[in-house]
Amino acid sequence: MEDCIFCKIAHHQIDSSIVYENEHVMAFDDINPVAPVHILVIPKNHVESLIQLEDNQKLAEIHKAIKEIAEVCGIDKSGFRLISNVGENGGQTVKHLHFHMIGGMKLPEKLA
Ligand code: 5GP
Ligand code: ZN
Repeated sequence: MEDCIFCKIAHHQIDSSIVYENEHVMAFDDINPVAPVHILVIPKNHVESLIQLEDNQKLAEIHKAIKEIAEVCGIDKSGFRLISNVGENGGQTVKHLHFHMIGGMKLPEKLA
């Protein structure tokens, strides 16, 4: 999608620190990390959020990638927080579905 920053990252049109990539999924370091490990996992094809996602297979691919990334980054055993902000109340700022993987430290707060 034109003017979508994450589409541009997915198609290598702008630089990012890529930690994982396959045909359907890409993961890269968040530009503004809130913890020692802060990775964003996205589908390469544009979809706004979980609400617009209709392809459950895509979610399975993302889930598989998340597990592999956790192992590669050494946070599978120590744990991490997985967040997808959805829509206005969810605080979503980039309108391309993404999951934050946040770890590498004991995290301070949680809402739920
Ligand atoms: P949201 O608030 O939509 O859940 O999260 C968007 C995230 O994308 C933020 O944590 C922000 O730091 C990150 N971000 C925004 N623009 C860029 C960018 O150009 N490159 C990277 N690597 N991360 C970005
Ligand atoms: Zn996009």
